[in-house]
Amino acid sequence: MNIILFGAPGAGKGTQGARLAAERRLPLLSTGDMLRAEVAAASPLGQEIQHILDAGDLVPDVTIIEVIAARLAETDCEHGFILDGFPRTLAQAVALDDMLAHMARSVDHVLVLEVDEPTLTARIAGRAAESGGPRTDDSAEIAAKRLAIYHAQSAPVVPHYEAKGLVRRVDGGRDMDAVAADIAGALDA
Ligand code: AMP
Repeated sequence: MNIILFGAPGAGKGTQGARLAAERRLPLLSTGDMLRAEVAAASPLGQEIQHILDAGDLVPDVTIIEVIAARLAETDCEHGFILDGFPRTLAQAVALDDMLAHMARSVDHVLVLEVDEPTLTARIAGRAAESGGPRTDDSAEIAAKRLAIYHAQSAPVVPHYEAKGLVRRVDGGRDMDAVAADIAGALDA
């Protein structure tokens, strides 16, 4: 099963993704985690993109498409995967579809976690307040920018997959267990 977990920053993609990955025994491909690992390792890519992550901007499509293409080619993705944080632009979605088509595969489900704006802002602020948290991009100012980028650049990914009949919307504003149950229901419907 090839799943995209989609939603704004703070929608709960990471939390639900980890849970779903364990339940379904599928690898969780979080592009945010991958990029933060590159930065932490001070790899050439990490050094190139650190300022972009810190500013809350998106890394260029070509860069992230290359990262995800390499990851999808790994053997643990053979029986499916859960994408968290990718695709985040229409160009990335089209590139993903092409990439999978070349592997004779396709996206099976796009789960859209819907959460209202005040809740998203509160959740990101809560994450920023966590002591020793690894996220430098959760400050209020950067969080507002990330939400604006989500609306402008990422939201168009939803109609792209809606046209293919793959979108399932889940109310992500409730407690973790209720959201997880809805996700399971959407996947098994
Ligand atoms: P996340 O943990 O998914 O919120 O991602 C953290 C940061 O990594 C984002 O604010 C972007 O700077 C970068 N990033 C993650 N995924 C992508 C993507 N698909 N396209 C562009 N930038 C990304």
